[in-house]
Amino acid sequence: MIWNKAKECMSLEDKRRMQGERLRKLVERVYHSTPFYRQKMQEMDITPDDIRTIDDIVKLPFTTKQDLRDNYPYGLFAVPMSEIIRLHASSGTTGLPTVVGYTRRDLSIWSEMIARCLTAYGATSNDIFTVAYGYGLFTGGLGVHYGVEYLGGTVIPMSSGNTAKQIQLMHDFGPTAIACTPSYALYLAEAMQKTGIPREEFKLKIGVFGAEPWTDNMRREIEAKMGINAYNIYGLSEVMGPGVSHECEFKDGSHIIDDHFYPEIVSPDTLQQLPYGEQGELVFTTLTKEGLPLLRYRTKDLCTLTDEPCRCGRTNVRMSRIVGRSDDMLIIRGVNVFPSQIESVILEMEEFEPHYLLVVERINNLDILEVQVEVRDGFYSDEINKMMALKKKMGQRLQSVLGISADIKLVEPFSIKRSEGKAQRVLDKRVFS
Ligand code: ADP
Ligand code: ZN
Repeated sequence: MIWNKAKECMSLEDKRRMQGERLRKLVERVYHSTPFYRQKMQEMDITPDDIRTIDDIVKLPFTTKQDLRDNYPYGLFAVPMSEIIRLHASSGTTGLPTVVGYTRRDLSIWSEMIARCLTAYGATSNDIFTVAYGYGLFTGGLGVHYGVEYLGGTVIPMSSGNTAKQIQLMHDFGPTAIACTPSYALYLAEAMQKTGIPREEFKLKIGVFGAEPWTDNMRREIEAKMGINAYNIYGLSEVMGPGVSHECEFKDGSHIIDDHFYPEIVSPDTLQQLPYGEQGELVFTTLTKEGLPLLRYRTKDLCTLTDEPCRCGRTNVRMSRIVGRSDDMLIIRGVNVFPSQIESVILEMEEFEPHYLLVVERINNLDILEVQVEVRDGFYSDEINKMMALKKKMGQRLQSVLGISADIKLVEPFSIKRSEGKAQRVLDKRVFS
């Protein structure tokens, strides 16, 4: 059990004092080791002396993914390459990948963070984990892998894909926990059902799911299908990887490991810091990271924060689920639409499977949103009337949640492509020029 009570249950006052000290040291360090930050601070006419307490953080410059790209590959590293012992890179679907580097100390902190997450889910050294996040440049696989080892649990380094083998080994090796994306968990759950092997022959109890947005309805679905307790894990490679925040047994928001990552919420438009409780863009400052320290990194992830006490006793600030990414928000006929809103509606209706695809097109200058969704076995029918009624019901619910109408396309079970990693749920065919 890795419960770092000294850090996880600190009084808020002591925490802020510690964060302030760490911030001072961090700023001093990057000012002298990273020309990019020195220049930014000089342009803003500040020096490390201007940073005394954690509240001074608002004086510091932001960092964006574009800054990492502009300094590709190693420009923002703050130590010589001889001290970097591992590289990872984010998927880079929208351009050059962003490369992140870790020192030995960074990796050890990362492993401890993940062990803390796993402990909060109730896992111990007696647990066997099958890690079905992708291994490789993606931080998911190796990140969780070393966290399980740090905890003292047993790790099965499965990686993603090869579903038939995953299931066979889950059956034969008896893992009690699984880590993968929530969309892959659903896929696996269905594939497990199809094998006809009774659920009691699997020993799974705990699911460690993250790397993509998901909803509480999706959680219930996975929990019911797999017979497990499913927990959220959040992270991003630029900041560290998975484990930046995690749920506890109460599943009431995710505790941020804020002794290492200082969170802020800012308005994506004005970049002003917002008070706890207000929704905005999540920003992190890596208080202790050596290889790639970041000041006020803009995640693009939208959520809220709270420092209300949690029943588990941890005092770490909690973040809500990610409602979307500011760059994944669809603007349809001028209305902001997040895929998570649509997912919630789909999962609230028993007639549907939690598999969907959103297709957006512009026809005659009008945005058209098509929601393709799988009808659950037993609800799918050849009778046109029944299907029309179902479409109408779904259309009305979506309209009331989104404020715009959508075309609903009902499809048969298993017709939407399943994902083994992060699910692609939006196909935006509009051309903006
Ligand atoms: P990228 O996807 O940009 O290549 P990462 O693999 O590091 O980079 O993914 C990080 C992003 O994944 C986060 O910024 C966030 O948008 C998303 N993400 C990770 N974990 C979660 C989670 N538990 N809930 C919602 N979104 C998540
Ligand atoms: Zn808690």
